[in-house]
Amino acid sequence: AARSPDDLRCPVTVIMGHVDTGKTKLLDKIRKTNVQEGEAGGITQQIGATYFEKKTLETQTAKLNATEAFDIKIPGMLVIDTPGHESFANLRSRGSSLCDVAILVIDMMHGLEPQTIESLNMLREKKVPFVVALNKIDRCYAWKTCKDTPIRDALKEQEEGTISEFRSRSADTKLQLAELGVNSNLYWEMGDDDWCNSDFIPLVPTSAITGEGVQDVLMLLCQMSQRKIWKKLMWCANLEATVLEVKAIDGLGMTVDVLVVNGHLREGDKAVFCTLNGPIVTEIRGLLTPPPSREMRVKSEYIHHKEVKGALGVKVIGNNLDKVMAGTPVMIVGPNDEEEDIKAEVMSDLTNLEAKLSTDKVGVLVQASTLGALEALLQFLRVDTQPPIPVSAIGIGTIHKRDVTKISTMNEKGRPEYATILAFDVDIEKDAREHAVDMGVRIMTADIIYHLFDQFTRFMDELTA
Ligand code: GDP
Ligand code: MG
Repeated sequence: AARSPDDLRCPVTVIMGHVDTGKTKLLDKIRKTNVQEGEAGGITQQIGATYFEKKTLETQTAKLNATEAFDIKIPGMLVIDTPGHESFANLRSRGSSLCDVAILVIDMMHGLEPQTIESLNMLREKKVPFVVALNKIDRCYAWKTCKDTPIRDALKEQEEGTISEFRSRSADTKLQLAELGVNSNLYWEMGDDDWCNSDFIPLVPTSAITGEGVQDVLMLLCQMSQRKIWKKLMWCANLEATVLEVKAIDGLGMTVDVLVVNGHLREGDKAVFCTLNGPIVTEIRGLLTPPPSREMRVKSEYIHHKEVKGALGVKVIGNNLDKVMAGTPVMIVGPNDEEEDIKAEVMSDLTNLEAKLSTDKVGVLVQASTLGALEALLQFLRVDTQPPIPVSAIGIGTIHKRDVTKISTMNEKGRPEYATILAFDVDIEKDAREHAVDMGVRIMTADIIYHLFDQFTRFMDELTA
């Protein structure tokens, strides 16, 4: 079917920013939930997806719409929360490459922080339009709470002293952004719709606790979607879908959380997934989503679907899903498709990566949490490391005993220094650790790529000293 400006899909919105700026809290405010307080240590550890219906967007922006009259034409919004901790750069990178629009959250009291800058660079690199939420405005001196109120109405209620702190803090952030080459302004101080038609970034003061400004953020995201990137959002029947996560669920076995950006997934579809051992073809046995305004990560009553339409986050049930890799595409074998072609396409990213491994099969084993992280690591070890560290094998996910056995062969090959596993952001099974000791295999772990490199070069230096 032809694509039409009257048939837009939901924009995929990602929330990015430094840890503790209030990303999860902001999403909780829109959802009217409290996921943040239920998180381990209050820190987001994974990507989470929440779907908002159009009517939720309408009620959540009603006060602002009363004075600013705008029409919401998008059918809803899919919001993705990302972890802010520095070790989760791979998840943030995945989030930013999947999204259509973004919210960059800055803590007004702190200004720009390291992961704010990292997120900003990712969004700029991928040319994603975004809104900056200047969060925690309620921390300004003597702030008077105006619960869930549009920001300009809330500012009108404040005393001179509060306004002057707000002015000076937002000017500071604006200056810090300008130093990075980003032009920004409080959104209502920009020309009528400058934030839509120029590269100026709109700033919106918010409180994720008391709700001031949250309406404004949602309105800007809707307007940006409809006026700036509507061409990209015209719904299209071609499936575009990515694996976010693979996990076991009680009673369902291994399931795959998939972000469907475009097209359909249907029960009974013949789906092709990418694993390290090659493609797997499996029938989709079930499609589950949380209820609207609820997050996929949170245990809730799942809704069963016969068919889902992008953009949506969905949990796929099927056989043989346990080795599927996060960050890889999902494809469907249609009536006119050659299964072999689809398999090759699903595997192409991994195939390209394997082509870069050491050709004489001598080198370390690199294990990472996702394909994207693995790509980044290999790039680093091959190109940015002098001398390059040779890699003979790669793996995704938890390190098992068999991985240790595999790399222990380097000892027999007379290259004990390469009987090493460089593990990035993955778990190690207990018996794999024990086996490593027995087999003379070193496992080096780190959450930051260059720490792995440091450990390995230090080890090499000691060896040759
Ligand atoms: P994240 O790491 O960016 O997801 O941040 P969280 O949502 O986990 O919030 C971090 C901390 O800041 C929590 O203790 C929140 O209660 C607090 N917080 C978040 N937003 C606000 C806000 O707008 N005002 C105030 N006063 N505190 C906030
Ligand atoms: Mg969080």
